[in-house]
Amino acid sequence: MSILQGLPPTTDLGDGITQIRLPMAGNPMRYINGYLVENDDGPALIDCGWKADDVFAALEAGLASCGYAIRDVRRLLVTHFHMDHYGLAGRLLAAGVPEMAMHAQDWEVLEEREQIDEDAVIDAWLARNGLHVEPEDDDQYQRYDLAKPTRLIEDGEKIGRLRALWTPGHSPGHLCFVDAVSGRTFTGDHVLDPVTPHVGLWVDVERDPLGEYVRSLHAVGALETSGALPAHGEAFPDLARRVEELLAHEATREAAVLHALDDGPRTAAEVAAMLRWRARGDRFDDLPSAYQQFAVAETLAHLEHLREGGTVGRRDDADAIRWERVSR
Ligand SMILES: [Zn+2]
Ligand SMILES: [Zn+2]
Repeated sequence: MSILQGLPPTTDLGDGITQIRLPMAGNPMRYINGYLVENDDGPALIDCGWKADDVFAALEAGLASCGYAIRDVRRLLVTHFHMDHYGLAGRLLAAGVPEMAMHAQDWEVLEEREQIDEDAVIDAWLARNGLHVEPEDDDQYQRYDLAKPTRLIEDGEKIGRLRALWTPGHSPGHLCFVDAVSGRTFTGDHVLDPVTPHVGLWVDVERDPLGEYVRSLHAVGALETSGALPAHGEAFPDLARRVEELLAHEATREAAVLHALDDGPRTAAEVAAMLRWRARGDRFDDLPSAYQQFAVAETLAHLEHLREGGTVGRRDDADAIRWERVSR
């Protein structure tokens, strides 16, 4: 198999922006986009793929088609901490990229992960919510090196031609980048098409990631922008339209989650089992185990958001956490 694994070739998008598709072997999304953006002081790379030799080779090949080597990249900008966006960062720093930047809240997540057994915490939380998963070996944590950013980016900060927009929800420190030259927005995993970005509550914390996500959608929908450059899939022209679709999707989902509580308290896993999943509308029981975990985490994000809004209450029973409607 070629290193590009049948992916489309590196694409010149105009305005000094190049789309380099980086493979995600074995993942249905197939690739993540690394975007190379020309700047006066050298090119910036937005997102870098996970840590794997085929990704490094694809990045080298994409850069070479622009006349660059890895060390010519002036800075790596990471939209968020997920391994497909950040995993290769350590190797790029080691290969001579001088600067790597992300939002402080996502760096905190990575640092905390060093202190705790994250898998055990997640498994215990899902079990309390009615989903018991067999611990299994997966190699995803080998797909990144913990590399400290040389710079932390704040909301509104300008980095050359790009302006950072803090868009928490998909991750606590997710960043989009608005390009002053092309008027386009690099949306990371915040806005994708046709994929619906995942927003989940994976640990028992006082946070409302779905509320954050919806607010961030409104912020991006209000941008005057001529197009979206997402981290997965292909560029699409109408960012505001896609934001409307995602807001409508979340509202439909919220109604379905609330409806699932009509007949009394339920665990999040029971609620998830009453919903349809993935674009095909799969039944929960037919989902592979990993997807069931995403489904329950997503259901929990909705339940917690409804709790914040005062229509749902949480009951910490001895055997499980149950959610119920609250009449006001
Ligand atoms: Zn992500
Ligand atoms: Zn991603």
